[in-house]
Amino acid sequence: MLVAILKEEREDETRVALTPDAAKALAGMGFGVAVESGAGLQSGASDEDYQEVGASISTKRGELLASADIFPVVNALPAGDQGKLKSGSVMIGFLRPLDEPAALTVAVQRGVTLFSMELVPRITRAQSMDALSSMATVAGYKAVIVAADHLPKLFPLLMTAAGTIPPAKVLVLGAGVAGLQAIATARRLGAVVEAYDVRAAAGEQVRSLGAKFIDVDLGGLQTEDKGGYAKELSPEALELGQQAIAKAAKIADVVISTAQVPGRRAPLMIPAAVVEAMRPGSIIFDLAAPAGGNCAVTKPGETIVYHGVTVFGPVNLAAEMPVHASMLYSRNVSNFLQLILKKGELNINRADEIIAGSCVAFGGEIVNERVAAVARAPQA
Ligand code: NAD
Repeated sequence: MLVAILKEEREDETRVALTPDAAKALAGMGFGVAVESGAGLQSGASDEDYQEVGASISTKRGELLASADIFPVVNALPAGDQGKLKSGSVMIGFLRPLDEPAALTVAVQRGVTLFSMELVPRITRAQSMDALSSMATVAGYKAVIVAADHLPKLFPLLMTAAGTIPPAKVLVLGAGVAGLQAIATARRLGAVVEAYDVRAAAGEQVRSLGAKFIDVDLGGLQTEDKGGYAKELSPEALELGQQAIAKAAKIADVVISTAQVPGRRAPLMIPAAVVEAMRPGSIIFDLAAPAGGNCAVTKPGETIVYHGVTVFGPVNLAAEMPVHASMLYSRNVSNFLQLILKKGELNINRADEIIAGSCVAFGGEIVNERVAAVARAPQA
């Protein structure tokens, strides 16, 4: 059984799917581990680091693709690579099956078993495999660090002989995993933080981090689904939130927006007029940019200046912290691998809730209903 760790092809990718620690564990369990030369370099792992833990290094990507049984990846292998994979081999990673199912077609047709880390159910037993939370944690932290670096102001309250500097005001929209990490990071840097979320349960978490929760009366509306995620709101309910946000944004130095609704475009929470009312030099950091953005002027993948406000729309922020993002991701993937490996062999129990939830393709067919529906839908 051979596990291959390949160089990521996506241009802005710096992470590696399995770190040397994880490679060591797999080698210790009797698996062969082959690493494409340079695969770990950007995340701080050299070829020698992998060799030291028992992995082999290869420069022959084509051979690895044709011979390995398991491909832990960050991003899906490109179609050209997929065409070389063995039937029955396994690819596991952020495969974006609901966003770009067509990009997986070749692998599906070749009978490759596909597991999507995005689709791992968020149940207690799967917490150690929750790569979305891992990356959201990294992104929430990094967003605040970048914003603090670009803000032409200090974050903390300073009392100096030359006078008092008031603390920066940070507004966080969406208090899920990324939002809570952003709040904690901004608080550590000394900012005064306010946060808003549609889920009432988020209020307690926000307050426990020393931030103020903006309570909006939505008239008892059910805003949370069974999985603990936000539901898509009606335009009227969105509007109620927007009024509170507009007021808080006007006086904020930094707005970090993270609001998302799984499977939908991110809710629009910051119209252009709100950006125009912010002070020049302020910052909007839109972590929802990959899902279209929470701010109307966000350009995914770009940083723009609109009416003097710098608007960041990063689409792969976790990759800007490759060492720890890879460490966390590698642990999530390794924990998942433990589920599908037994006595040195692949053992895929499709009745297992975690496996069933995350399996996109098996035996030449798309086996996830949501993915199949998206794949069938006519392209826009
Ligand atoms: P997410 O990335 O889908 O969304 C981020 C936040 O945006 C959420 O808190 C959501 O409520 C909020 N939001 C959505 N629409 C909004 C709107 N119109 N206005 C204001 N806020 C809006 O969410 P996430 O960070 O991945 O996680 C969300 C929930 O899932 C949290 O309750 C979290 O604790 C829970 N969770 C559970 C587990 C687990 O049990 N294993 C793991 C991770 C997360």
